[in-house]
Amino acid sequence: MVNREVQAHDTVVRFGNAAVGGDKFAVIAGPCSVESEEQLMAVAEVVKKHGAVALRGGAYKPRTSPYDFQGMGIEGLKLLHKANQQLGLPTVSEVMEVGQVDSMCEYVDCLQIGARNMQNYALLKAVGESKKPVLLKRGLSATIEELLLAAEYIYDAGNPNIILCERGIRTYETATRNTLDLNAVAYLKQRTHLPVVVDPSHGTGVRELVIPLSRAAAAVGADGIIVESHLNPCEALSDGHQALTGPMFEQLMQELKPFVEAA
Ligand code: PEP
Ligand code: MN
Repeated sequence: MVNREVQAHDTVVRFGNAAVGGDKFAVIAGPCSVESEEQLMAVAEVVKKHGAVALRGGAYKPRTSPYDFQGMGIEGLKLLHKANQQLGLPTVSEVMEVGQVDSMCEYVDCLQIGARNMQNYALLKAVGESKKPVLLKRGLSATIEELLLAAEYIYDAGNPNIILCERGIRTYETATRNTLDLNAVAYLKQRTHLPVVVDPSHGTGVRELVIPLSRAAAAVGADGIIVESHLNPCEALSDGHQALTGPMFEQLMQELKPFVEAA
């Protein structure tokens, strides 16, 4: 169902005022994790001011180490809801378990399936039944075909509002956190009608590489990016080293202007 042979025109996924797919390049931005009201509101204002169409922020965090910050949980979801109410920025947040789907739907506008859960078929079915827009990230070692089949699970459960996300894959390279597979973006744009976004933050793991890879994502034909930003990255509770500072986010939006403003 996600193949172009089934539907020739591009799917546009809408939530709040955000539209992903179609002519404009959509920038979704915000912190890796929701950490506090002050932190979230401050960064949300900055990304909104410079043209982000949606706010990201994790409340349930899939951390490699069980000793690292695991997220604020429901309190984080409430803060995302508040940020949306105050700023009119729709929100994207990761759902990690079937049992979280209902409460996530109450508080956020788009459900993120993280890389580690791309093949959690019970979760894919549950978000499919929810009808909320879904941002589906490619698994760390998943093939493009496996990503498309994961999307098919969501579609088949009744939810066609799916955004695919290339977030870098595991390779032998260790200089960067992951290897951003821009081939996948070009390939997916031919193969499927679903919108495709790039996550240059997890794709590189290095703040200084995020702007160049964002430009590359736009150039290769992605429908947008999802990017981590933090006003005080040294103090971030997760992924600070890959977060854009406020001035860097402004610079990013400046460089993406021709794509963001396309008719
Ligand atoms: C995230 O978006 O913060 C995240 C954990 O992403 P991924 O699932 O791509 O690692
Ligand atoms: Mn992160």
